Amino acid sequence: MINFEYIRASSVKAAVDALAKNPTGKFIAGGTNLIDLMKRGVTAPTRLIDINDLPLKQVEETTDGINIGALAINSEVSENELIKNNFPLLSMAFAAGASAQLRNMATVGGNMMQRTRCSYFYDTTMPCNKRQPGSGCGALQGHNRMHAIFGASDKCIAVHPSDMCVALAALNATVSISGPKGNRKIPFTDFHRLPEDKPELDNTLQKGEIITGVLIPKNNFNKNHYLKIRDRASYAFALISVAAALEMDVDTIKKVNIAMGGVAHKPWRMTEAEKFLVGKKATRENFSKAAELAMKSAKGYGHNNFKLKMAPIAITESLMIATGIV
Ligand code: SF4
Repeated sequence: MINFEYIRASSVKAAVDALAKNPTGKFIAGGTNLIDLMKRGVTAPTRLIDINDLPLKQVEETTDGINIGALAINSEVSENELIKNNFPLLSMAFAAGASAQLRNMATVGGNMMQRTRCSYFYDTTMPCNKRQPGSGCGALQGHNRMHAIFGASDKCIAVHPSDMCVALAALNATVSISGPKGNRKIPFTDFHRLPEDKPELDNTLQKGEIITGVLIPKNNFNKNHYLKIRDRASYAFALISVAAALEMDVDTIKKVNIAMGGVAHKPWRMTEAEKFLVGKKATRENFSKAAELAMKSAKGYGHNNFKLKMAPIAITESLMIATGIV
């Protein structure tokens, strides 16, 4: 057991200041991932800064869309009428994530900050560049069934495990951040990063920064579907997931956003497939062609080669279910 200090912050500024005073500290909210990581010895913060008292639990309508606080609880956001009516894709993604017990504890900010579930990352007897930079990657030549097919590097082939984040990437959300240098906003698709030669960094947060919320802009998506393929329907991380949001004018696609989960170190937007589909009819043939374009840069690592066949079927299927042509 490691010793650590525990404090509660009463404002965002107090939380940021508390971390600045102890850079090896960590913020804790629901704790649904961090406590596991501490128990397994993957991380050992010397200070836990409890942020549950911060006024960041809102789900509120703004002139531009919806503002969700970083401490809003996953199950409450999922069931919120504003979300269900305006962003059904997000509601579906939440419902597909984790278990009811975890959804009742987990926060929106924590969901974004959760770490990969690569088994080598959690096993401190094994090499892992993400846990211990320079130690190697156990998964590259090891058991990599759950791992990435897009955007991986020779340092890390892990995937981001969130469902919520896949929907937020498809919905063009923006992340609100506070830190020692003030407040800033970044596009959701720029929040998580690819592993490149620094797999220890999951995201683009700067030192001492905290997520304060997520803004989702209004949209005219009238067809939405979140498809999640996993080993157990009750509770499992995605082998592959697809968030599909379309704005249809009768049977013609005016706009479409597609993101995948379970396939990369970050939610993976399929911009080439999106461009191809704009102005096209919603047909199986067009969706299959879009899926083919989306898969152009995919690469398997052995045990996960099945994803190369499963992913295009999942993309096609999700688009077909969203548009009701199945
Ligand atoms: Fe670690 Fe990434 Fe390799 Fe998994 S895939 S062992 S997280 S470096």
